Amino acid sequence: MLRLLPIAGLCCACMMAGTMPPDADRQLARDIYKQLIEIRSGYTTGATTPVAEAVATRLKEAGFPESDIFIGGAIPRKGNLVVRYHGSGARRPILLLAHEDVVEAKPEDWSMDPFTFTERDGYFYGRGTMDDKAQAAIWIANLIRYRREGFRPDRDIVVALTADEEGGGPYNGVKWLIENHKDLIDADLCLNEGGLAELVNGRRVSNDLQVSEKYVINFRLEVRNKGGHSSMPVPDNAIYHLAGSLDRLSKFAFPLKTNEVTRAYFRGMADTQTGALAEDMRRAAEGSQDAMERVAAVSPAWNATLRTTCVATQLEGGHARNALPQLAAANVNCRVLPEDSADYVQSTLERIFADEQVKVSIADKVQHGPASPLRPDVVGAVKRVTGSMWPGVPVIPMMLMGATDGLYLREAGIPTYGIQGLFVDRDDIRAHGRDERMPVTSFYEGQTFLYELVRALCQ
Ligand SMILES: [Zn+2]
Repeated sequence: MLRLLPIAGLCCACMMAGTMPPDADRQLARDIYKQLIEIRSGYTTGATTPVAEAVATRLKEAGFPESDIFIGGAIPRKGNLVVRYHGSGARRPILLLAHEDVVEAKPEDWSMDPFTFTERDGYFYGRGTMDDKAQAAIWIANLIRYRREGFRPDRDIVVALTADEEGGGPYNGVKWLIENHKDLIDADLCLNEGGLAELVNGRRVSNDLQVSEKYVINFRLEVRNKGGHSSMPVPDNAIYHLAGSLDRLSKFAFPLKTNEVTRAYFRGMADTQTGALAEDMRRAAEGSQDAMERVAAVSPAWNATLRTTCVATQLEGGHARNALPQLAAANVNCRVLPEDSADYVQSTLERIFADEQVKVSIADKVQHGPASPLRPDVVGAVKRVTGSMWPGVPVIPMMLMGATDGLYLREAGIPTYGIQGLFVDRDDIRAHGRDERMPVTSFYEGQTFLYELVRALCQ
């Protein structure tokens, strides 16, 4: 069921001067947003090149020279767009990133067509309205506005709209650009998705600044055995070896700890909470094991913020109902804190499994980027603009439990910050799900927020 209640408290805010872009810019952002939502760009059912081409056409119409617009990608269907707006060159460029692709959406699962941009009851509906076509449309609309206004930044502003962030294949646009055209996107810093602006019951709770991410390791556990006839079983059984190890894993938890980013996160979050939880968050940030234990028990997200996690996600084994298994295998998916190494995680798992017959190996290449530093210029600008638009709303640095393309950029030496200023209900996040939506007011306020933030970082 759709939640039809409008978000309380936003209706008067939308009339407030200062948080809404001028009418013409609002219309432009909405037009681009609509156009992008209605282009299918899922991994298997669509392509990203039409997104890149549609945006390039708009940029040319707005007066951007062809020589400042690049379209290219790993294969013809997976085009990326990079556009450069020239500044004075006093400082190195700023990169504004958003991805063009979306998670697949089946019309029969939705209450409306996911590829028809629909405005209803105070929300924009459609696949990609949250992830990530709002930010893509806003970057482009704001770039066109800067040009029309004659804004002269002290650095180049580069916008990159890229392919296949959502995974599923080898055509990731950010990876491809780093490997083939690093000069086009090289920058002093990058702004990206990944930072949530949190609404709780219509109240703006925080504008999160995402500065680091956990990284992923998939381990394959494998037990091989000579097998035999199931009528004459022996204790040495591949499935039992594997099951015993997984059972020990289910009772194990990695140590609780904090880092620079998560300490700042819990300190900031404490101010938005009351009572014992607020006190526990403050003490967790100071390193109290007891307090961390209690905070981790409150929610899986906070647990995952405080430790590396590993969980069994897939199983295979046995070849016949009447044979002793010759193979039992499992995938264990780990989400690792930036400061924990792959070796540490593997040796810890081997110690927990405590079974030499269970062979543990890393299933695929591990991509591990550093955290972005809490740079005073970035944090300061985000706080200033947030404070002027939404007085009293804190900016909270955070580490993402999932992963974005920021990983590749951080690894390539470009500090990347997830920041959007697009307020959504944190208990009803529909990215990747059915009836994905964005509050209309949040979209336009986010447009203003990102317009002001980029200006602040460019003068
Ligand atoms: Zn995304």
